[in-house]
Amino acid sequence: MGKALIIGAGGVSSVVVQKCCQHPDVFEEICIASRTIEKCDAIKNKLVGSKTKISTAQVDADNTDEVINLINNFGPEVVINVALPYQDLTIMDACLATGVHYVDTANYEPPDTAKFEYKWQWAYKEKFEEAGLTAILGSGFDPGVTSIFTAYAQKHYFDEIHTIDIVDVNAGDHGYPFATNFNPEINIREVTANGRYFENGDWVETEPLSVKKVYNLPEIGPTDIYLMYHEELESLSKNIKGVKRIRFWMSFSERYLTHLKVLENVGMTSIEPIIYEGKEIIPLQFLKELLPDPASLGPRTKGKTNIGCVIQGTKDGKPQTYYVYNVSDHEKCYAEVGSQAVSYTTGVPAMIGAMLLMKGIWKKPGVYNVEEFDPDPFMEALNENGLPWQENFSPTLLDEV
Ligand code: NDP
Repeated sequence: MGKALIIGAGGVSSVVVQKCCQHPDVFEEICIASRTIEKCDAIKNKLVGSKTKISTAQVDADNTDEVINLINNFGPEVVINVALPYQDLTIMDACLATGVHYVDTANYEPPDTAKFEYKWQWAYKEKFEEAGLTAILGSGFDPGVTSIFTAYAQKHYFDEIHTIDIVDVNAGDHGYPFATNFNPEINIREVTANGRYFENGDWVETEPLSVKKVYNLPEIGPTDIYLMYHEELESLSKNIKGVKRIRFWMSFSERYLTHLKVLENVGMTSIEPIIYEGKEIIPLQFLKELLPDPASLGPRTKGKTNIGCVIQGTKDGKPQTYYVYNVSDHEKCYAEVGSQAVSYTTGVPAMIGAMLLMKGIWKKPGVYNVEEFDPDPFMEALNENGLPWQENFSPTLLDEV
């Protein structure tokens, strides 16, 4: 059917590439391009014999002209951006300049401020409309599948949605005292930020990780979850009409939180530059160099993830509760693609978003969050591509302990 350019060669990219290669009828040719070409080649080398033709390229995606040249040389229909959120705008500019569709998994964040927001990417809406191009934002798991779960609930099970609680639990153990499951810099910036949730049209701020619950989740058991801000809250508060409250919860072990507190207390998570032996360094970027590479956690991680949405509202005048979730097993993901479940659960939806776009099923000119498309083909594709979901309507199955 066509060509896709995949930018980034980290943990998520490796899964996207392998999943694209499972659909050679759609992804006839892909190019993996990133800052370090050796990492692109390493992914390509895992796929010797693939029907999808694979090439690699070096690119600095902070530089729009370099991305434009690469797109012009390769000629893709779509760019799948699984580099870092810092590159979103330069890559979107390059897509506009060359007439290519765009898919990503994380919204733009300026490198010097730990603040992610959709406003920068939503500002491209008219430009993409005028160019007849589609940009699909946030096609990972969260954001991504959690937003599609919500759109699916809205379409099939609710007249009105009142509350949404997104619950992201990773009960996997990699055996390291401290490591992050995706890019450490992005992860720590997110976790150390203030909590925030949407209620009755306003945003309520909380101290970082200060609100805790214990949820007893299927296939996981009782788990500590903490209220955090997460980017899909911004788009869902706009796109799910009439919603009164949306919160996001993530699990952290005591061990993770203790390490994080110490690192924070000594200044290692700061993004303020400091001078060390005459050279300017950013403590968090230095810390990233010390921590295990998330892509290396695959063979060590055991246990499961459970990510889903608890949605409450009304149907036919009666109260309705709906819980929809996916459970992924780190070891099973590793056996299939050589990556742990956090990369897997992000990479599969990124491939599906691009596949629906290439098939013309999710194609409409403009810039859209995933919940603005028909959720049904995506939900079907999740079941077919390694992320089966389960649902139940009984709130007792999700006892708060
Ligand atoms: P990694 O750090 O493992 O990989 C990022 C890749 O991007 C690296 O290969 C890196 O190159 C490359 N890169 C960074 N800067 C540039 C640049 N200027 N030009 C070209 N390439 C560049 O991250 P992950 O794979 O863990 O995460 C990828 C993305 O997925 C992130 O944006 C993350 O926020 C998002 N994500 C989304 C989730 C979701 O559910 N929606 C969940 C998890 C992650 P190099 O190898 O040289 O450093």
